[in-house]
Amino acid sequence: MCERLEKLCYINLLQFTFLTHDWQKVDSVRSITKFQSFLNTATVSQQIHNDQQWMIEACQLAKYAAQQDEIPIGALLVTAQGERLAAGWNQSIQTHDPTAHAEIVALRAAATAVKNYRLPNTTLYVTLEPCVMCAGAIIHARIQRVVFGAYDAKMGAAGSRFDVLRDTRHNHQVECIGGILQEECGDILRQFFRAKRFK
Ligand SMILES: [Zn+2]
Repeated sequence: MCERLEKLCYINLLQFTFLTHDWQKVDSVRSITKFQSFLNTATVSQQIHNDQQWMIEACQLAKYAAQQDEIPIGALLVTAQGERLAAGWNQSIQTHDPTAHAEIVALRAAATAVKNYRLPNTTLYVTLEPCVMCAGAIIHARIQRVVFGAYDAKMGAAGSRFDVLRDTRHNHQVECIGGILQEECGDILRQFFRAKRFK
């Protein structure tokens, strides 16, 4: 495993296990020892590999959204067996729909496909940390796991600004892993807004 991927894996495991973004709360020495042994397991390596592969696909959807002059965010819903259920990208501007975020578009498509508004045992991949609205929909749909790329310090509801997905006051909590292809996902957004400024 390359150094960058190993670091990514370690950070994500910390986030996943401690359910916190506040690194100061984590006992770093004990954590490092504990998670370095996890890093050697084939299962973890395979999971990280799978997460990255799906995120690459989500990035393609985000780039497609940019071509449509929509804010470039892409999302995919994947079953536990690794089957793609649905894909989505931001469509709010073209559809005049403030709810048409990539995640909601993907959830609607998946729910329609399986004829069930509950989507348990699935993973939602999205290039940017979900907002509060999407986090609410994710909980309603009973999504098991959310993997996102870039963090959203202003609006993120998976721990950055709000922690809706893991709030124990809900009757469903969602496993969250952030920072998968963080730079790549963030660059798509940065390039989009930079181009907008120079138009
Ligand atoms: Zn959203």
